[in-house]
Amino acid sequence: MKTTITFWGGLDTIGGNIAEVKYGNDRIIFDFGLVYNPASSMLDTTVKRKHTHVLDLLKLHAIPAIDGIYSEKDLSAAHSFAMEKPLAQEQTDYQTGVFISHLHLDHMGAMDTIAPAIPVYMTEASRQLFRALEQIDEGLTLDRAYESLAYHEKITIGQITVTPYQVDHDVIGATSFLIETPDETILYSGDIRMHGAHQEYMDAWLDIMKEKEISMLLIEGTSFRPEESGLILTEKQADLHSVPEAGKPQQKIPRLQSETDIEQVAVTLMKESHGLALFNVYHRNVERIQQFLNAAKIVGRIAVLEPETAYLVNEFLSTGEFRIFLEEDEALTPLQKNLLNQYEGITVEQINERPEKYFLQNSFHHIYRLLDLNLKDSNYLHANGMPLGPYDPSYHTMHAILTHFQVDYESLDVSGHASKEDILYVIDQIKPRLVIPWHSKHPELVKPINENVEVLLPEKFRTYEL
Ligand SMILES: [Zn+2]
Ligand SMILES: [Zn+2]
Repeated sequence: MKTTITFWGGLDTIGGNIAEVKYGNDRIIFDFGLVYNPASSMLDTTVKRKHTHVLDLLKLHAIPAIDGIYSEKDLSAAHSFAMEKPLAQEQTDYQTGVFISHLHLDHMGAMDTIAPAIPVYMTEASRQLFRALEQIDEGLTLDRAYESLAYHEKITIGQITVTPYQVDHDVIGATSFLIETPDETILYSGDIRMHGAHQEYMDAWLDIMKEKEISMLLIEGTSFRPEESGLILTEKQADLHSVPEAGKPQQKIPRLQSETDIEQVAVTLMKESHGLALFNVYHRNVERIQQFLNAAKIVGRIAVLEPETAYLVNEFLSTGEFRIFLEEDEALTPLQKNLLNQYEGITVEQINERPEKYFLQNSFHHIYRLLDLNLKDSNYLHANGMPLGPYDPSYHTMHAILTHFQVDYESLDVSGHASKEDILYVIDQIKPRLVIPWHSKHPELVKPINENVEVLLPEKFRTYEL
């Protein structure tokens, strides 16, 4: 018997990476997300068709037709005509575990489709974050249970063991997975970076992995793209976390190099601004919100958060210095009422009296709130909040509205992904026998420094014997 690996997605896309490692009847599958491409996606994740959810995603090829991972019930919904179905979980005798590296949609967006009889594992921090996301209606379509993992603690699926090791990425709870079968040692990096706030995670990770004999390293290659040539801009930016280099207006500040620069740059920009300061972040990156709260405090402005973000901050950060934005003509939800027991609310009228006193969160889905605000001398600090780049049609809407109201746009984007040099450094430190770059539009550009490290660019749906 030999270990095999099958790739079900994510080989030349950013995200949607799904691989299956099998030894006999034991198998593990890691990550179960959706490819994110707002310009061409057929999926609208806000549409909740619970009864046909699994079939819908299969029909749209948003999830792979793997035998034995979807339940009979989910595969037999009424509208199941016109499709060839994979075998249901009940029809196979695999022992399966699914492992989620972190809570970005491109890694977890379809984990709710897994049959309830199959355990789905994530780190304890990820599980807490997921529970909180469900509370603010950012959960997934189907309800199911999730198992939690502690870093460095092995989980056994038959003869395969999986051990999570913490890595730094732009969301809490991120992990890599070390997968050991009777004959192979495979390392999946997860999404990683070496310029974040937690370099210590990466140093510890590399120290451990250097000592191991890794037969296969699956590593993310998000940053690998052909050199600049205007033609490929939209194509190369079709990913969830990249920093666009073109297609946006001139700004005062140079591109940020490190997560830890954000607070200081926000301070500088707010000091120069005589009007309302706005910010747009992806709030799953709660640690980044802490930097914005710190910056507001330093310059003596009051941070104002949207209730959903305030809920996450209240759950995961220790600071309590912010107010909650209140929409005047809307009734309070139970979640908002609860928050207002702890934090003060604030209305548009109050902000408009002294706009220069505030640092107001504005997510893209609330951009029309700008129409109510006094935007004289205002600036907008965009730090990897949606929309992320010109590949997203909303990105142009955002810029058109900001330009229309003469709001200064400043990008404070810091990528969640390691640079090309850092990825090559990681490969060189770990020295696997074989490296498989994925989670990349251009995996063929990954060329290890050490020529003894072999590169494999696998084919989708093909099974490889190691
Ligand atoms: Zn990703
Ligand atoms: Zn990610």
